Amino acid sequence: MQNRQIRKKGVRVGKNESAMDALVGSVPHWIHHKVEAEGYIGGYKYLPQCDCSECGFTSNIEHDVCPHCGAKMHLIK
Ligand SMILES: [Zn+2]
Repeated sequence: MQNRQIRKKGVRVGKNESAMDALVGSVPHWIHHKVEAEGYIGGYKYLPQCDCSECGFTSNIEHDVCPHCGAKMHLIK
C-alpha cells in the first residue's frame, strides 16, 4: 500500500515559513506574518498579524486562546 498520506491538521508549510515553523507545528501557536525587509535578522520583519496554526484564523494580536477555534496557544520564540 503506497497510499499513506500524513496530514497534519492546520499545519501549512509554505515557502515563507522556516524549518523552525514547521518543527513547532505540533502545538497550537500563532504564526506571525512576515515580510522581506533589509536589515532584519534573517531578512524578514515580523508583523503583529498572526494566523492560528490550528484553524488558520488571522488575528491582529496574539491571544492566549484562539478566539475562533478555542485552542490554547503556546508562545514560541
Ligand atoms: Zn484557531
